[in-house]
Amino acid sequence: MTPPPIRIDALVVGGGVAGLFTLDALVRAGRNALLVERHALGLGQTTSSQGILHAGVKYALGGVAGDDAEEAAAAASLWKAMLAGLDSPDLSGLRTLASHEFLWRTAGLLGAAGMLGARLALQTRPEVVAQAERPAWLTGVRGEVFRLGEVVIDPRDLLDRLRAPHAERVALGEVTALTAQGSSAAVTVAMPEGPLRIQASQVFLTAGEGNEALLALAGQQANEPMQRRPLRQAMVQGRLPWVFGHCIDGAKTRVTVTSDETSRGVVWHVGGELAERGPALDEAAFLDHARRELMACLPGADLRGAEFSSYLVQRAEPRTTSGRRPASVHVRATGPLVTLWPVKLVMAPRAAAQATAASVPPAAGADGRWPTGVPRPALAPRPWEEATWRRLD
Ligand SMILES: Cc1cc2nc3c(=O)[nH]c(=O)nc-3n(C[C@H](O)[C@H](O)[C@H](O)COP(=O)(O)OP(=O)(O)OC[C@H]3O[C@@H](n4cnc5c(N)ncnc54)[C@H](O)[C@@H]3O)c2cc1C
Repeated sequence: MTPPPIRIDALVVGGGVAGLFTLDALVRAGRNALLVERHALGLGQTTSSQGILHAGVKYALGGVAGDDAEEAAAAASLWKAMLAGLDSPDLSGLRTLASHEFLWRTAGLLGAAGMLGARLALQTRPEVVAQAERPAWLTGVRGEVFRLGEVVIDPRDLLDRLRAPHAERVALGEVTALTAQGSSAAVTVAMPEGPLRIQASQVFLTAGEGNEALLALAGQQANEPMQRRPLRQAMVQGRLPWVFGHCIDGAKTRVTVTSDETSRGVVWHVGGELAERGPALDEAAFLDHARRELMACLPGADLRGAEFSSYLVQRAEPRTTSGRRPASVHVRATGPLVTLWPVKLVMAPRAAAQATAASVPPAAGADGRWPTGVPRPALAPRPWEEATWRRLD
């Protein structure tokens, strides 16, 4: 005999930063919520993220009309409260890689104009850093250097901490059927012991790029078109200083560098305009270009003996008419399906709060749990943990 479906208030599909914040917010709001992850928590965007809690600089520099520096600043203050343990979820103790970043420019008129734009548009006023106070790796940078109050966190530690209080609610499985039925949704999840049927008042789609196929499964793809924007991020490993900052040229962030430690030294994770243009190049051409860009932006850095690598990753977002980054988080309910794309990691708690505000009241008898013994997903690796490295000198 087929067992009855597991009845719950909410099923969250996808365990990246959006899914885990949403699970936490729903549970705190009194909903009986479960989460299903297909591969590993945060695989795709979250564990590729540079972990910068943008306070507006990128939005100010992006030059995209409608970009919301104010929303970014509001999100930054929410993070400040969570990191201090003054708001929920309590993220005090989260592994923080940097308490601030630097902003500097490459020589030339364009660089100067971009810097001026950034200073005018920024919510958080950057502080000028005197020559004597600059880190050694900024030696050789001409022009002003600023310190920005943008915190950089470890996104994988974030996932770990978000999951911890809800570990029993998180399972590894594949959604094979998803049907909206009036005011609830019927979901089938493939598990090693056989398929599980779930009846949920709502299903929250937080699967990043995977949302597209899930929406297609539910016949809703046309209502929620998605776009992918590819990046090729560079990575450099060796005896390097810890670098956190944005090198500006014109209205562009030429490179954004964040750092972490590995068993072989320090690794730089490099994004910005370099990564936006990267998908058009093959890896060898890209790495040559990346090395030149880093030498131009960080003339004081010694890259001798360093190893280089890169990886391709897709950003997944609601489709915009321009094809550029949407200005804001995306949370939309269509019947019992709620689709989320936070657009930035820093926006994920705000997206989760919006999704929870769109949740229906708890239903009587919706008290289902995952059966004991279901598999649990691991945390996805950081990109440099699986990289193939090459020396360029
Ligand atoms: C290189 C890079 C750097 C970035 N740097 C920053 C930064 O510094 N600051 C910032 O604010 N933002 C940054 N971002 C953006 C940020 O990382 C993303 O906006 C955010 O991580 C998206 O989270 P998500 O949970 O929606 O998606 P994802 O992190 O992609 O998570 C989706 C999850 O769903 C799972 N999944 C997929 N399909 C299914 C399915 N069918 N069933 C079940 N599970 C499924 C995946 O395995 C994954 O675990 C960066 C993005 C990239 C790519």
